[in-house]
Amino acid sequence: MPHGDAVVTGAGGFIGGYLTRALLSEGKTVRAVDRKPLTEWCQLQPDAENLVLDLSLAEACAEAVRGGAAEVFHLAADMGGMGFIENNKAACMLSVLSSTHMLLAARDAGVGRYFYASSACVYAAEKQTEAAVLPLREEDAYPAMPEDGYGWEKLFSERMARHFREDYGLATRAARYHNVYGPHGTFDGGREKAPAAACRKIATAVLTGATEIEIWGDGEQTRSFTYIDDCVTGTLRLTRSEVVEPLNIGSDHLVTINELHTLIEDIAGVRLTHRHVPGALGVRGRNSDNTRIVKELDWAPTTTLQAGLEATYRWIHDQVSAQLAGRPRHR
Ligand code: NAD
Repeated sequence: MPHGDAVVTGAGGFIGGYLTRALLSEGKTVRAVDRKPLTEWCQLQPDAENLVLDLSLAEACAEAVRGGAAEVFHLAADMGGMGFIENNKAACMLSVLSSTHMLLAARDAGVGRYFYASSACVYAAEKQTEAAVLPLREEDAYPAMPEDGYGWEKLFSERMARHFREDYGLATRAARYHNVYGPHGTFDGGREKAPAAACRKIATAVLTGATEIEIWGDGEQTRSFTYIDDCVTGTLRLTRSEVVEPLNIGSDHLVTINELHTLIEDIAGVRLTHRHVPGALGVRGRNSDNTRIVKELDWAPTTTLQAGLEATYRWIHDQVSAQLAGRPRHR
């Protein structure tokens, strides 16, 4: 590819698949990169140049940005829901290899804009001990005491991106995503996040006639959930803006995990018994403060939780139904 429009890393993953599609629909040329075999990509865009590369290696990162690119979106990371990140801290921290090599490769290839996908997990746990949590402002990331493993890597890498901007003139941008969900995300296997896990459990109950599902903890822990379309819109707006400090990209509609389940049950047309069991819980409460993004970008996520969950539940219901019928998974 000669000097291309865009490179998306982690393009075989959930957000990367949507971002690739959005860039293609803008008429851009896109090089999409992931280490997973193409058959395992969440969404495969035939119009993209799709490359399977392990970006923990420096030479793979050089290959990913070969010829340069106007925009690089670095989304590749070893990640998952609380059940994954609490039990795979070393693997999460090893994403520092791809974060580092991609920055070096982007600098050397002279890319125009470099976006880094950071996370709300960079925020200090002590600011998230109550269910009725105060929304997290960007400045709350310091003094630093992020989520162990995954959060430390994210904070370190967003900071490294900042210094590549200051020291080498690479135009970096960073977003702190808050719990992104939607169709085509991981919904089973251990890396799934709360909305997808809840949709899967409820769809399975509906399809098998079960009357009870498990919820980790007392279900009174709170979160906000960001629909994928808002995540992609925010990512593109931020990347093309002059905002150099990390920004929250997250919904500020706070719900308890119990409320999340009730909402999905309403969509599914069932009422199930909840059995509360021990599990990975993460912080007690987390919400996004959107004051800065509204001020800087005159924009914030708009999709209602109801609308986002309806689309997500429909898709996961179809996947579970296909699985139960022994049909191959639709991608
Ligand atoms: P995902 O797991 O669906 O996608 C990540 C992709 O990166 C995977 O397909 C994986 O194979 C790929 N990858 C990992 N290591 C790689 C490597 N060394 N080389 C090449 N590819 C590699 O995750 P997602 O939900 O799409 O998240 C995308 C980004 O956004 C990640 O950086 C994640 O940490 C960040 N993020 C996501 C959320 C969320 O709620 N989904 C929240 C905060 C931050």
